[in-house]
Amino acid sequence: MYDDLNGKVAVITGASRGIGRAIAVELSKHGVWVVINYKSDRNGAEKTLEIIKENKGNGIIYQCDVSLNNTVKEMFQDIANKYGKVDILVNNSGISKVGLFIDMSELDFDEIMNVNFKGVYNCTSYAVRSMIERKCGTIINISSIWGNVGASCEVLYSATKGAINSFTKSLGKELGASGIRVNAISPGVIDTDMNKCFSEDERSQLKNEIPMMKFGKTEEVAKVAAFLASDESSYITAQVITVDGGMI
Ligand code: NAP
Repeated sequence: MYDDLNGKVAVITGASRGIGRAIAVELSKHGVWVVINYKSDRNGAEKTLEIIKENKGNGIIYQCDVSLNNTVKEMFQDIANKYGKVDILVNNSGISKVGLFIDMSELDFDEIMNVNFKGVYNCTSYAVRSMIERKCGTIINISSIWGNVGASCEVLYSATKGAINSFTKSLGKELGASGIRVNAISPGVIDTDMNKCFSEDERSQLKNEIPMMKFGKTEEVAKVAAFLASDESSYITAQVITVDGGMI
């Protein structure tokens, strides 16, 4: 239990399922009041809140497409008006596009950049203002190992995650003196809907490429997020932490 997290307010983008849901649930177990952001899956977001309430935690659901600057601005204004502050921002929303680079259109480029990278920019730029005023806060960006090393057939996705890694290192340095820590988690293959596109054969092939011979669980990423949000990681900033079972 990270006692310092008790009573903090966190915004977790893309918390209607997968890694985002696990992070929202994990933070709430430490007494964090969570804003469960989603884009289209309202039922999923409600399920996340239900799990949190079953664990005696609490929070709200907030629909917002993170790629749209104006709606993100409204979300952070609403949260500030109603709840006063944001202590923790987890930029988790993301989409993937698997295929050859030559088959990717300009539309694909715009879509993945706007959700995966501009979404991080949008949310961070509004969350960070009050953090700077209060001289405290933590930002956690969910990257990917493909942002560290690049992946064939996921060129655009890898590029967005590489951008997140540089953004994290730069912003962490810029905000160090303001008492705000900025880190990223770089997961390997985690068992979520994002990997539903793989056949059983592809899944077992993938597992063979992982030294731990298994996919990660969302909870295993969430526990690292809680550590990075807490004072237990008080001297860690501008870092990209890999959680991949030894894959890269
Ligand atoms: P997921 O199960 O597909 O969930 C994606 C989440 O992002 C959903 O909650 C979705 O909300 C939300 N989202 C998508 N577009 C959005 C938008 N425009 N605005 C707001 N929310 C949006 O994915 P996941 O596997 O949990 O992945 C979460 C993060 O981890 C992503 O950034 C991903 O790149 C990263 N990651 C995943 C893996 C993996 O193996 N799973 C590995 C490395 C990194 P709706 O359902 O409401 O649309």
